[in-house]
Amino acid sequence: MKPLAGKHAVVTGGGRGIGAAIATALAGAGVRLTLLGRSRAQLEAQARKLATEVHVETCDVTDPAQVQQAFEGASHALGKVDILVNNAGQAESRPFGKTDLRLWRTMLEVNLTGTFLCTQAALPGMLAAGWGRIVNIASTAGLRGYPYVSAYCAAKHGVIGLTRALALELARKNITVNAVCPGFTQTELLEASLAAIVQKTGRSPTEARAELVRHNPQGRLVEPEEVAQAVLWLCMPGSAALTGQAIAVAGGEVM
Ligand code: NDP
Repeated sequence: MKPLAGKHAVVTGGGRGIGAAIATALAGAGVRLTLLGRSRAQLEAQARKLATEVHVETCDVTDPAQVQQAFEGASHALGKVDILVNNAGQAESRPFGKTDLRLWRTMLEVNLTGTFLCTQAALPGMLAAGWGRIVNIASTAGLRGYPYVSAYCAAKHGVIGLTRALALELARKNITVNAVCPGFTQTELLEASLAAIVQKTGRSPTEARAELVRHNPQGRLVEPEEVAQAVLWLCMPGSAALTGQAIAVAGGEVM
């Protein structure tokens, strides 16, 4: 009943939204968890809701020294990391002409470099153990383009490229590397995107939401728990043949 009992997973951005749902799903499968993010209060609040052993690490995934320290802390608390879910991310929209270097760098650093740094920190332990699961939360924006989010799209396409390359590099090491690509999902990040659309276009909140829902053939937003189920499946012992995949959880938006 607890297929992942004894495993230690690190979930970045595990304090809210999709990351919190992933933590809940993994806890249900018996995983011990390290939740990692910048806001300690949020991480601790989420930790209290989980029915498993939970450790919390405060860390900005764009800072190499903080990442190193956080993974050392996680290993010290709960042992080597068996499962890494690179979920921490940010999405900021801007027309390409107004995408300055600061925004470009922020999107790449948080979404792509953060994934690189956390993976480098977790991988040696997986190689030593001869078992590992790495799941990168990309986006449908890693599989197709959307207007006004060129920096975010470039970063998420990068996450999928990294996933595919590393999957091949680790194919004979019993470590799988996959990406899960949510469509528009009901979280705080989405609420911020909606607020930006309302502010920039003068549309009503209902019109802005309808605009995003329109992308999904099921005519709705994705729920964080639906993304979490895909992540859980990829982490299962029986999913060993699944690697290098970019799986859309988007109601058929991408196929
Ligand atoms: P939220 O904004 O609700 O959560 C983002 C999480 O990432 C928070 O826990 C936040 O914690 C953490 N985070 C952000 N920046 C950093 C940082 N520099 N260092 C460490 N942690 C950080 O977003 P979602 O749950 O919606 O998004 C989760 C992932 O799913 C992201 O990668 C996002 O791109 C992706 N996604 C989301 C979609 C959606 O429609 N919601 C669609 C497709 C993909 P804190 O602020 O405390 O650091």
